Parts: sequence; C-alpha cells; structure tokens
Amino acid sequence: MVIPDAKSGIPMSFSVAMPDSALFPPNGHFPWKRLLKKLGTNTNGARINALLDSMRASSPTRRPAEGEDHGSWILHHPSALNMFEEIMSASKGKQIVVFLDYDGTLSPIVEDPDRAFITNEMREAVRDVSKFFPTAIVSGRCRAKVHDFVKLSELYYAGSHGMDIKGPSKGHRQKKGNQTVLCQPAREFLPIIDEVYRALIEKVKHIPGAKVENNRFCLSVHYRCVDEKKWVELADEVKLVIKDYPQLRLNHGRKVFEIRPTIKWDKGNAVEFLLESLGYADSNDVLPVYIGDDRTDEDAFRVLRQRGRGLGILVSKVPKETNASYSLQEPTEASYALPKAFSGVEEAKKMSLLRH
Ligand SMILES: [Mg+2]
Repeated sequence: MVIPDAKSGIPMSFSVAMPDSALFPPNGHFPWKRLLKKLGTNTNGARINALLDSMRASSPTRRPAEGEDHGSWILHHPSALNMFEEIMSASKGKQIVVFLDYDGTLSPIVEDPDRAFITNEMREAVRDVSKFFPTAIVSGRCRAKVHDFVKLSELYYAGSHGMDIKGPSKGHRQKKGNQTVLCQPAREFLPIIDEVYRALIEKVKHIPGAKVENNRFCLSVHYRCVDEKKWVELADEVKLVIKDYPQLRLNHGRKVFEIRPTIKWDKGNAVEFLLESLGYADSNDVLPVYIGDDRTDEDAFRVLRQRGRGLGILVSKVPKETNASYSLQEPTEASYALPKAFSGVEEAKKMSLLRH
C-alpha cells in the first residue's frame, strides 16, 4: 500500500502488522514497577559522575547551571517509580503502547557505540512487556544495528530517528530480515547519505577517536572518545562537508553530531505513524508510553503532550528542559544491580490474566 505523506508529499509504502490481541490483556495489573526499576533508580544519592560532567557541554537541552535546582525539577518531573499508582490510574481501560529509545535508555552510554550492549536482564524485561503491549524501539541508529543489539523479533523497530520502520516478524519462527517494511519516508536520500558518509570518513580520519556511523537514512559523528581540545576542529570539519548538501541538516545530540535529511520526519512522526498503524490515530483508548534520554526523544515527548494523552519519561540524572512528564535516572547501574529479571510471562499471568 502506498500513500503520500501529507506533510512531505513523499510516497510511503507500508503494510500494517497488527499485534495478536490475545497477547494484550486488560491493563492495570502489569508489573510496570519492576520494569521501571530496571530503567532507573530512585533519586536519592544522585551524583553527577565524570561522564555526565563531560556531557554538559554537549547536551543542548540541559538547563544552564544558574537555573539548576534538582529538587524543583523532580517536583515537576517526578520519578516514574514513585508515580506508579498515578501511571496505573492513567492506563486504566486503555491499550498501552510502549516506545523505547535504545542508547542511554535500554543500554548505557559507552565510549564505543558499537559496544552499547543491552543486558540480558533488560532484554528479558522488554520481551515481557512486548508480550502484553505493542512495543517499539525508536532509535537514531540503523534499524538493523538496533535489532542486532536487542535481538527481539516481536518488536517494532524504528531506526534512523524513525525514518526506517518495520513491524515485528511473526514470532521467532520467521527468519530475521523477513519483516514487512512499514515506512521509509527518506528513501530518496540514500545516495546522498552514502556520499556524505564517505566524505565524512575522509575528513575526520585525522582526529583521534572520531567515529562516523552510517545509520542508513542518517549519519552520526560520535565524539565520545575525542579529546575536548579537538571538538571545535571536528565540528568545523563536519560543517564543511554538510554545507554542500542543503538537502541535509546537522543536529547535535549527546556527544554526537547527527546528519539527516531535511524532511520533517522525526521520532515524533514515528510515534504518530505507529499509533496510526495500530489503529489508534484519534483514539482515546490508548496510552502511549515513551521512555527516552536524549534531545531527539523530545520530538516524541512533544507529540504525546500535544495529543493530551500519553506518558513521556525522560531518563536523566540531571535537570533538563523537557516535554516529558516523568523521569528516571540513568539505567545502567540499576539494571546491573537488580538481582533478577522479570520472572516472565508466568508471573504476569499470575498478576493479571488469571484475574480475568
Ligand atoms: Mg538515547
């Protein structure tokens, strides 16, 4: 099926893979609290570690130091763990749809982006959630790479900031890579992106630690491992390449430059597209829950806020300007520290299905 996108005029091919409704029980009894505990700790003892300190300069959504008041910020963006009852109340009678960012949300931010692995515990937690609710991973990375990290074929994957969306394959029986394409609105930009990828590799190869990542429909230039003295030089090199390509724009994320097509399509569009695909475009019977940590996730938080329904949860230890309603701290230590992952569907059944 091919439809023109109203905003961009770009034809998009898609087919809708509806989840098996039998897998989604009535909401309200799912062990959300245990999932959220895997995604963050409580707010006590928050300490800005060296890594986050170094991110200050590259985190555009962070409030200036003089405006910083962690206590006040938490009041306005309470921990999702502490607001468990309120979240459950909001989900009553609604179909929850779960959207999860990858880097910094399901996996720790690490020096080598190729080694941003998800823990087995976190994977199992996501798997359990997906058994009850339609679940999508929404990432700036190449969709295939995120799939390689997460390794769950039952999820929706929106790679390249939502510009490459595929639905779940039919369980584990279907071969990987055999999923149906749902949406690729930036397909015509592929040749340009490949060209710029090659140019960037050439231009930044003399800067130690710089890493150019081809995310298929967009590019990332990581500088997590670049000496701060070289940051300006790296930025200049990237801008020099991009200036010849008005079809592309440059954004700034957490220790990364993002280069992507100028079309209006971001993680917020991906959320809207997936909700529409699932049949919830204008529905009051859905509660989208989006968990993310970066500036690009703000587009999704904004969509939920504009819809007037949905829960945005920002993963952050430090105050940031955000459209999210709730917060969680960095996921890493909490998920490692947890003694045991979800005990799986059986427990969920005990908690919910058997009551109905
Ligand atoms: Mg992230």
